[in-house]
Amino acid sequence: MLSYQHAYHAGNMADVQKHALLAVMLDYLGKKDKPFSYIETHAGRGLYDLGSAEAAKTGEAAVGIDLAEAKGWFPKDHPYARVLTAVRRDHGPRAYPGSPLVAAHLLRPDDRATVCELHPQEYEALLAVMLPWPVACRKADGMDMALALTPPEPRRGLMLIDPSWEVKADYEMIPKRIAAIHRKWNVGTIALWYPILTDGRHRPMTAALAAMNFPKVLQHELRFPPARDGHGMVGSGMFIVNTPFGTEVEAARLDRLVGNRR
Ligand code: SAM
Repeated sequence: MLSYQHAYHAGNMADVQKHALLAVMLDYLGKKDKPFSYIETHAGRGLYDLGSAEAAKTGEAAVGIDLAEAKGWFPKDHPYARVLTAVRRDHGPRAYPGSPLVAAHLLRPDDRATVCELHPQEYEALLAVMLPWPVACRKADGMDMALALTPPEPRRGLMLIDPSWEVKADYEMIPKRIAAIHRKWNVGTIALWYPILTDGRHRPMTAALAAMNFPKVLQHELRFPPARDGHGMVGSGMFIVNTPFGTEVEAARLDRLVGNRR
């Protein structure tokens, strides 16, 4: 059932949006002299090679992070750029970090992190990548763990929910699950990523989320051309609850860079 592999999509424009916003949020959380928790439900393998056959097959990184960097979107001191520099130094010029590795670079020694991945091979790869980092990896269903791990200690913190959206039922289940997580952890930042597909499949889900009246919501949708002819993804979205200060500024900056109107 688990057939999605992020290696085909790493570094695409959706990753640029998700990882840039994630880095800005974690950087903000790290500015306060108090530890925080990081939880991730769908971790992937943690590290990707943009020179791989998988990446070449889709060409998505070429119109994602490669384009963003060619246009100078992320200055050297941007937290996402700092992570990219460190990952390339450690793993080579075409290395690209998955979200657990983005987070690992921005966590401080007292912060706590748990990331979940269900796919056996992706999990094994993730374990190897995360070995040098103080990040707990769990081979478990991310949405079940999301409930089991909340409220985390320390209570300040962020949860990234980044499903592969292979299971249609996720579109109905996830808003309800986010509401349940928020009831248990009302101070936590919960950040959901979703694809914007030509058939508008995400819309009932985002409407359900909007109707839940969560505090400090940022819904950011970035529209971009399909990575190749016939590709159904024409944008990517983040729905964030308890949005950290400054995230909306970065979201608006990404809109301007991509040429989106609000
Ligand atoms: N968050 C990663 C990043 O930004 O680098 C990408 C994650 S990818 C979109 C989704 C991952 O979720 C896949 O590696 C897939 O194997 C995994 N997955 C699918 N269903 C899952 C589940 N129920 N629990 C945990 N992981 C799951």
